Amino acid sequence: MIVDYHMHLRDERGGIDHTPAAVEPFVERARERGVDEIGFTEHVYYFEQTKDFWPWSYYRERCHFDLDAYVDALVEAKGRGLPVKVGLEVDWTGERAGELAAVLAPYPWDFVLGSVHMVGDHAIDHGAGRGIWAEAPDGEVWRRYVEMVSAAARSGHFDVLSHPDLAKIYGVQGSDERYEELAAAVDAADVALEISTAGLRKPVGELYPDARLLRMSSAPVTLASDAHEPVFVGEDFDAALALARENGRDTVAVFDARTRRQEPLG
Ligand SMILES: [Zn+2]
Ligand SMILES: [Zn+2]
Repeated sequence: MIVDYHMHLRDERGGIDHTPAAVEPFVERARERGVDEIGFTEHVYYFEQTKDFWPWSYYRERCHFDLDAYVDALVEAKGRGLPVKVGLEVDWTGERAGELAAVLAPYPWDFVLGSVHMVGDHAIDHGAGRGIWAEAPDGEVWRRYVEMVSAAARSGHFDVLSHPDLAKIYGVQGSDERYEELAAAVDAADVALEISTAGLRKPVGELYPDARLLRMSSAPVTLASDAHEPVFVGEDFDAALALARENGRDTVAVFDARTRRQEPLG
């Protein structure tokens, strides 16, 4: 089985389109590429129901879509028999994570991704040498990033950690110590790791995560494109499958109503 468990429900040009019709081009692309099942995971900060959680203007500016409409579109697509899962990409909100989880609890999620994009008041992925990278030494950025991803893992609010080593996006690599810390948190929490091909399209030019994390951890894995338009569904999955297999994964995690099972990979 091949899944793509990370994508954003957009139109062909990347504009927000939370309708059942918008699901179809993603499903078509998945079929073309031999992907059996796709999971939509819009950013949590696009939804007005979460607007009280975001101190950052980038998030608040985007926070005006309706979470019910998004979920309804996916549930309808699923009801028509399309191989679609209902998911969300949820930023780690630290001490407010429980409160945010309570806002999201009434919805019929198949799985919820946990993500760290912000370190302090800066996005870690908004420019090499900018924001947090200009404010703190590289090792300190990594230390804070891994501390937050580990806390997200331990919180129990997430089924999968997305792009688990996003901090390498501009080519600044993490130390073995940081990866060991992350692997220990992931394994203790029994959360899955996403193997994401999005990093191949970023300056680092590598899959997320580094093979070291897959070797140090025994966590189950999902596959992910992080597509923001249909054309990228299943992008570079040969590389993702190879990384999984080279690091001892011959099954993939599959989710239904937040229950995980393992299916043979491929
Ligand atoms: Zn993300
Ligand atoms: Zn994403």
